[in-house]
Amino acid sequence: MAQVEAEGAARLAEAEGRVARAQAELARRPERIVERCINEGDMQAAQAEAQRAFQSRSYAWYHLSALGLLHAELDGERCRCGKVRRSCPEAVLVDGVHGLRAWEARQVKEARAGHRHYLPDGHPALVDHRWLSTADPEYWLASQDGG
Ligand SMILES: [Zn+2]
Repeated sequence: MAQVEAEGAARLAEAEGRVARAQAELARRPERIVERCINEGDMQAAQAEAQRAFQSRSYAWYHLSALGLLHAELDGERCRCGKVRRSCPEAVLVDGVHGLRAWEARQVKEARAGHRHYLPDGHPALVDHRWLSTADPEYWLASQDGG
């Protein structure tokens, strides 16, 4: 009986020792910190990917905007390239791009706030600081005021 109790006490002491070593190991390498580092790495990779996607999208808008400048309306009838506007394939293409004017309006706001923007050189908003996009609600307010 005493031998069984002694073996039990020895096993208990061994188990307690294992628990203590495991706790010390956890204290030296906390699992949560490792997990946080992995997530920060994933987060940075995702942010870098999002930034690349944003930039490539911005450059696509930039080129569409630049194409729009080459084929801008001159007098309501003619395109800057000399063709009748309705028969200029580039003007028809650019006019049909949904969201281009709204994108330009946002870029104008960024440019005027002194922030980075993607408007092409020579865009009327960069030349004339009173220029308003037709996609900007202020354009419609200004046109109602007779200005
Ligand atoms: Zn044209």
